[in-house]
Amino acid sequence: MNIEKIRVRFAPSPTGYIHVGNARTALFNWLFARQNKGVFVLRVEDTDVERSREEYERRLIDDLRWMGLDWDEGPDAGGNFGPYRQSQRLDIYQGYTQKLLQEGKAYYCFCSTEQLEKERETALAAGTMPIYSGRCRVLDPGEAERRIRSGEKAAVRLKVPDEGLISFDDLIRGHLEFDLKLIGDPVLVRSTGFPAYNYAVVIDDHLMKITHVVRGEDHISNTPRQILTYRALSLEPPLFAHLAMVMGKDNTRLSKRHGATAVDQFAIEGYLAPAFFNYLALLGWAPPEGREVLEKAELLELFDLKKVSRSAAIFDYEKLHWINRQHIKKLDPGGKARRAFPFLADAGLLPEAMTEVHWRWLEKAAESLMEGVDKFSELPQKFSLLFDFTPLALDEEAKSILKSESAPKVITAFAQKLERAGGLDYAKYAAIIEEIKKETGIKGKALFHPLRVALTARTSGLELDKFIPLVEEGARLSFPRPIKSCLERVRETKKHLESKAADI
Ligand code: GLU
Repeated sequence: MNIEKIRVRFAPSPTGYIHVGNARTALFNWLFARQNKGVFVLRVEDTDVERSREEYERRLIDDLRWMGLDWDEGPDAGGNFGPYRQSQRLDIYQGYTQKLLQEGKAYYCFCSTEQLEKERETALAAGTMPIYSGRCRVLDPGEAERRIRSGEKAAVRLKVPDEGLISFDDLIRGHLEFDLKLIGDPVLVRSTGFPAYNYAVVIDDHLMKITHVVRGEDHISNTPRQILTYRALSLEPPLFAHLAMVMGKDNTRLSKRHGATAVDQFAIEGYLAPAFFNYLALLGWAPPEGREVLEKAELLELFDLKKVSRSAAIFDYEKLHWINRQHIKKLDPGGKARRAFPFLADAGLLPEAMTEVHWRWLEKAAESLMEGVDKFSELPQKFSLLFDFTPLALDEEAKSILKSESAPKVITAFAQKLERAGGLDYAKYAAIIEEIKKETGIKGKALFHPLRVALTARTSGLELDKFIPLVEEGARLSFPRPIKSCLERVRETKKHLESKAADI
């Protein structure tokens, strides 16, 4: 095959939201096109009228864009080989069908769905492959033509040789052979007039000058049928690269049971698009030097379609989390704050109208609280450390700390000093602690644990050198749910201790 310019396509059917497996197929096509200065085409395969919906097409385009993909030709992008929606290409397919019928390479099939279904069941019951009997293949073409003109509905089938082998060299799977005995005459056009996938795909890939078909392995069994169609039309097939399936960790097909599978869900749960992109690229391909955290530009440089693995790729959410954490780490404070904002605003923690001071505060808070976060949907929970302070709702461990002997002394002393200090920063906090240590002789855990509980109503969380300034500065800002200052917190804890409402 003489290839002047590499042209690949992603050809989704808009019958649902785009899932991880298809997203990976789109990504590999995109990487291959871009690294070869080729063309990436988006073609919408919407000939299944009952299941295709415009809404899915729109979502699909949004999801691909969110991932960071772009295309040179497509229903929204235009191009010289359009239309790029199969439902708008019906007359093109029809032209080819007429040619195949006239040349005797295809024939009308009048068999009813019930009839075919019955044959299928009989074959399955007998333990044989359900292959079309070829009943209509022997009909007289003139007679078939007359029945069509008189209004009878028929499908169009391709005549496939009864015997022999059909083979192709897959760029990933190597040489593959198929026995023609196991391939019945495939339907090219359904009796509804809509082309079958295997037929439209051939004509479109040909007319759109596709050089490489990179798609999921679930299409391997379709490929011989497509090659037979190319032959019947005297066309040269493109090169094929079939990607192994994406599975869950338990080796079953990835499904909702394993976690998010639809691309938009990953955006909603707060994965960074470059991290998702990075992780998808590792599904079936490994970077040569083992460095796995990679930006788009690096992936473009390193990706190699020929090195894609033949075995199934395992979608490992933990690894995705790790990759996401690495990409989060790379963001500067402004980037972290900007991305955190929608998740926190939606949870009612941040005001819609953020002032400059709010943003500065959020940058600091995000810098501290985003550490170790797998995805942004965890942020409201993380930020509750600053926004929620309820000494009435302590866990058992915190309760037992407040019940300890040192707690009332430490907290009372701390409260008194804090009242006088008028506001707190970490240096003041450290000085106060020193004084309490000297005055009471209490030190170590007996000193620090009650103070942490008094300030945070928790037993773990941020280091106090980070926590104190966030809370103090936050308390001066207006939030839908105000942040309590350190003084307010200690006063509340003290009151709670004293009230002895205290089954603390
Ligand atoms: N519409 C087909 C699908 O979504 C395209 C397969 C192909 O790339 O040929 O699976």
